[in-house]
Amino acid sequence: MGDAHLTVEGIGKSFAVKGGEPIDAVRDINFDVQGNEFCILLGPSGCGKSTILRMIAGLETPTAGQMILGGQTITGPDRDRGMVFQNYTSFDWLTVEQNVEYGMRINKVPEAERKELTREYIELVHLTKFREAYPRQLSGGMKQRVAIARTLANQPSLLLMDEPFGALDAETRWSMQELMLSIMASTGTTVVMVTHDIEEALFLGDRIIFISRHPGTVLEEIPVDYRKGQDIVRKEDAVTSPGYAELERHIISLMRSQAHVLA
Ligand code: ADP
Ligand code: MG
Repeated sequence: MGDAHLTVEGIGKSFAVKGGEPIDAVRDINFDVQGNEFCILLGPSGCGKSTILRMIAGLETPTAGQMILGGQTITGPDRDRGMVFQNYTSFDWLTVEQNVEYGMRINKVPEAERKELTREYIELVHLTKFREAYPRQLSGGMKQRVAIARTLANQPSLLLMDEPFGALDAETRWSMQELMLSIMASTGTTVVMVTHDIEEALFLGDRIIFISRHPGTVLEEIPVDYRKGQDIVRKEDAVTSPGYAELERHIISLMRSQAHVLA
């Protein structure tokens, strides 16, 4: 994996609207992500989280500012960034194994190395028993594990995730979050993840970038420090940690200050 240091400098995005004023989705966004960091983009619905992530992925072009990853300016999509979306994106006609192998085939990774990496990443997401299954035979959580393995197998320097567990049941979501922590610990991946779920942000994030309501800008950068010096791997150990409740209260009040008031 390459140098994962990301700098986002003054990026903005204005969408053209047919026959109307352009929509300023986000404005003057600045933040940094260090290698091996789990960075969360949190904020109310419609504040521009997905737009920011899509710009980092190179799927959207900013109308202002620039982004630098590992010393290189981001100008479009590239293998150094891998993206996991909320909806399942595996190929239905390929087995788990073939799905995970797919990107490496395209990138002409030699067969022996490809097979070995496929085995490793399937193991990492605990799907070894299901390696010959097709996505339709898997639960939502398992499908999302295929997507994670498939993306990580390309060894991106930066893993981008947009509400990846948003469609899952609560207990599946927890176990996916716990799995993400163990993946982080064993692979040293750098992640930027979008969520609107405060609990998820507090459990996974090393740092939370809180985006204000539309048009989005960085309202506050919040270091997640309740877990300092502790190896927290289970949800219940996080919520009972000293400092967790205060941090949660602070973020809930930020969220309330940015919520759309009902008429
Ligand atoms: P979030 O992910 O935080 O819910 P989005 O990034 O999806 O927010 O959207 C931010 C704003 O940009 C919204 O007002 C949305 O309507 C607008 N927007 C997003 N994509 C487009 C697009 N392709 N064209 C026009 N407006 C868009
Ligand atoms: Mg979104």
